[in-house]
Amino acid sequence: MIDLEERRCDVLVVGTGAAGCLAAIEAADNDAEVVLTSKGALGRTGTTNIATVEMAAAIGHGDEEDSPWSHFTDTVIGSRYLANQELAHILCFDSPSMVYYLDSLGMPWDKLPDGRYWQRPMPGMSYRRGVCYDAKTGKMLQGVLAHAVQQRPTIHVLNDFLVFRLLKSTDGQIAGVVGWQSAVGRLLLIRARTVILATGGAGRLYKICGMDTGATGDGMAMAYFAGAELQDMEFHQIFPTGFVWPECIKGMGVASSVLWSKGLRLYNALGDRFMERYDPARLENVPRDQLTWAIHSEIREGRGTEHGGVWLDTHAVENWQAVKTEFAKAYARPQSLGIDTRRMEVGPYYHYTMGGIRFSVDGETTILGLFAAGEAGGGLHGANRLGGNALSECAVFGVRAGRAAARRKGTLPDIDPAEKSEAVEYFYRVLDRKGPGRLPRDIRTDLAEMMNKYVWVLRAADGLSRALESLGELRSEANVATVTPEPRHHPSLFDALELDLMLVLAEPIVRSALLRTESRGSHQREDFPQADDEKWLCNIVVWRNAHGDAQHRLDPVRFTHCTPPALEKSSAWVTP
Ligand SMILES: Cc1cc2nc3c(=O)[nH]c(=O)nc-3n(C[C@H](O)[C@H](O)[C@H](O)COP(=O)(O)OP(=O)(O)OC[C@H]3O[C@@H](n4cnc5c(N)ncnc54)[C@H](O)[C@@H]3O)c2cc1C
Repeated sequence: MIDLEERRCDVLVVGTGAAGCLAAIEAADNDAEVVLTSKGALGRTGTTNIATVEMAAAIGHGDEEDSPWSHFTDTVIGSRYLANQELAHILCFDSPSMVYYLDSLGMPWDKLPDGRYWQRPMPGMSYRRGVCYDAKTGKMLQGVLAHAVQQRPTIHVLNDFLVFRLLKSTDGQIAGVVGWQSAVGRLLLIRARTVILATGGAGRLYKICGMDTGATGDGMAMAYFAGAELQDMEFHQIFPTGFVWPECIKGMGVASSVLWSKGLRLYNALGDRFMERYDPARLENVPRDQLTWAIHSEIREGRGTEHGGVWLDTHAVENWQAVKTEFAKAYARPQSLGIDTRRMEVGPYYHYTMGGIRFSVDGETTILGLFAAGEAGGGLHGANRLGGNALSECAVFGVRAGRAAARRKGTLPDIDPAEKSEAVEYFYRVLDRKGPGRLPRDIRTDLAEMMNKYVWVLRAADGLSRALESLGELRSEANVATVTPEPRHHPSLFDALELDLMLVLAEPIVRSALLRTESRGSHQREDFPQADDEKWLCNIVVWRNAHGDAQHRLDPVRFTHCTPPALEKSSAWVTP
């Protein structure tokens, strides 16, 4: 029997990526006693560490004509008009001040000799808007934030702590969480006045993914399980060319977008330069999503390589040695593994989760006292996210959530005893899964295979319906999986808890993809290939009712700041 220990704080932040650290810092600076948790270790887990390039902010040092309004219209157009405009407006007008704030915390942004910020161009952005640090922006940012956390005595860091249930009070407000601290084999309940979910995205539900291995969508799943609303769950950013082989760098993107015009080529396993069939004029130099669809189609139609990719060939790149030197950082890892960078096996890979937990301008979800920040949140990017806006989101809304959560005063809510019993009994049921089924890790592999087969780049009703059936079967399998009994450093218990959350989350993803009978942004339906503005300028909102049944509604987009040109019957954007 494992004891259930209890701990208390004002603000509990789940997740130590950029959003979580910034929320914790802001809450501590607003006089809250904070517990900051991660299922890995502060500074070393989360996708923030991997973010290579930039944070978007219309500071105007790259191009003087730039403005937050231009950033805002780019963001809304990029979202294919589905972005929550109120959130997007705050994002774009507040991100410059966040750059200065991060500077004050110690972030060594790249600067010009005169002290202004060096800003780079980014796809979909009208001006040079990306602030960076030496092509290692995320890693440096994560280090700076971890250091700032450690300097604040009112932030208590709890590593290796996998939160698996949110607990509410009898009147429905958030009251705490239960989690498993794997390193010490401890089941721990944390009571808190407010909880901030900064648990990142859900890319690991899929087979080929460039995100952190812990990006299993836990926060979204727990929020959904607890009755909070999620939105835009059908939208996932999938980029065209990530390694599919070797296994150790599977999902790592190959820096190719600027190289297409220099002579990079794609070949299928039969040796055909297949882009000649898809777009004979532009060949590989088409927009990123079209390249993704073409590569995906080649692989699906059986013309893929042994490991399920196509060949990215650099032989026709003029002066390859010089190009490789220019992009030395991007090619250093594959080269160090002995990979021939003249011919690489690549395919579409999962990059970013647009959907997530619905949140207000202060980061609060539809459960009182529960906040969401960073990639765990949904609503800001609609059908497609522009590069750099993810780190801006972490900063702007991480800080806002931290401040609002800290300022929520009052007594610690009492946990509903029924919720506590359910969580503890669930944990012991998982611990008691003695088989005869397979290991949770193997079932997780099947889940990822299934999601890649039916809910990937191109979708259709029959595949999505099959995905729903498969989820039922995988859930039955998970219930009789084999969880080995050693409670400390217990990989199969950890895997089982994560797998259950992934299975919870996969369902609203598939249901939302089935509901949206049009193609828009990252959601492409083969059976509905056109965008349908008449019916679908709305967000799909999903939640579970008190009986655990899946619910949904369609929320028309509120054009609070500008209206799509098509609706105005003019090409100009209008302001209210
Ligand atoms: C290859 C790559 C490059 C990118 N480059 C850029 C870029 O240049 N610019 C940009 O804006 N965006 C970029 N992004 C996206 C961006 O990195 C992420 O959206 C962002 O870092 C997410 O930060 P976060 O704080 O929300 O979550 P994360 O940094 O992913 O942190 C999540 C945290 O939650 C914890 N956690 C999760 N579940 C639990 C649980 N159940 N219990 C306890 N803890 C839990 C994790 O351990 C982790 O600490 C890139 C993404 C990828 C994959």
